[in-house]
Amino acid sequence: MTSPVPAAVNPPRRILMGPGPSDIHPRVWAALAAPTVGHLDPYFLQIMNEMQAMLRQVFRTNNELTLAVSGTGSAGMETCVVNLIEPGDKMVVCVNGVFGGRMADVAARCGAQVTTIERPFGEIFSTAEIADVVKKVQPKVVGIVNAETSTGAWQPLEEIAKVVHDSGALLLVDCVTSLGGVPLEVDQWGLDAVYSGTQKCLSCPPGLAPVTFSPRAVAAIEARKTKVASWYLDLTLVRNYWSQSRAYHHTAPINMNYGLHEALRLVLEEGLEARHARHLKNHKALKAGLAAIGIKYAVAEGQQLPMLNAVLIPDGIDDAAVRGQLLNEFGIEIGGGLGPMKGKTWRIGLMGEASSPRNVLLFLAALERCLSDRGYKLSAGASIAAANAFYAKF
Ligand SMILES: *Cc1c(COP(=O)(O)O)cnc(C)c1O
Repeated sequence: MTSPVPAAVNPPRRILMGPGPSDIHPRVWAALAAPTVGHLDPYFLQIMNEMQAMLRQVFRTNNELTLAVSGTGSAGMETCVVNLIEPGDKMVVCVNGVFGGRMADVAARCGAQVTTIERPFGEIFSTAEIADVVKKVQPKVVGIVNAETSTGAWQPLEEIAKVVHDSGALLLVDCVTSLGGVPLEVDQWGLDAVYSGTQKCLSCPPGLAPVTFSPRAVAAIEARKTKVASWYLDLTLVRNYWSQSRAYHHTAPINMNYGLHEALRLVLEEGLEARHARHLKNHKALKAGLAAIGIKYAVAEGQQLPMLNAVLIPDGIDDAAVRGQLLNEFGIEIGGGLGPMKGKTWRIGLMGEASSPRNVLLFLAALERCLSDRGYKLSAGASIAAANAFYAKF
């Protein structure tokens, strides 16, 4: 039997204001469509070198072992855990959302003796409780999420890094959503193993996971008595391809690397400080707009992520119906709640390219429509006026 050939890919144009992927700059699309060369072509090796240099700038590190893992953010997570953990090693994982939970699962699969400490979704950890558990467990590695995309909570790291180092442990940090959106100082804060993803605040399609390892973390990898449990993610092998020996390991996803190269150029052209300031400004404008129509944040003041705005769905408003209308009528994607937040929160992303006054004002106008259609009482245009009043102060 033969079936007809499906139509060519022709995706709708969306405004990506969910938890990722985020809007993509046209220059990144163009880079993705550039001619593929071989993974050992001198041109590609140059791209790799430039990418490593740009990743070090964005991570704010001099770490030699800095590269882009072939795979999405979760592959970055597995890379960090599987290279640092040998069966029987103790690892503490801080769980206050879906991604901390995933890290604990990954650690257990790698054979770690895992101790989890937990906080309700939307809350963050204090340095004191990390100090307590580290003292009790004496782990080799402590894992924590910097920007919990599932809840919208922003976990400070600097103090925690001190406590973890004082105990002799390594600090492993999920920066999938934070990189390129909020300040991150890998060297200054002393973070040992850090992973990210391309499709959040770097505004590149999903497919690569930037990682960086401190000299202490590299020493721990070199001191392993057992082989890394994953062949694909084994950095003792992968790093030979990313270093001068250029030994074939796996075929790098060439065009994805072109895309990330261009996305990193865009980040550095804008400048990290300016980029962080832009994320903060648009977050504050959105927040002013939402406040004017009675929409509240799910995370406490002072702990809210600028790039991921988790807000409480007003009583009696149908979560899926509003998100459906936003998508179908306005082409705007936002996220629903995950885990215990399902049906309770909306997650409005202002990541990378998507963090713009255009998106903030368009979203507020569209949301007012969706809410009014469902009988929600608001003063028409109030959210837009409040956001514009905020922007007018700049
Ligand atoms: C998106 C995300 C991940 C997972 O990344 P994928 O690209 O979906 O594999 C992990 N951690 C955090 C905090 C994220 O936001």
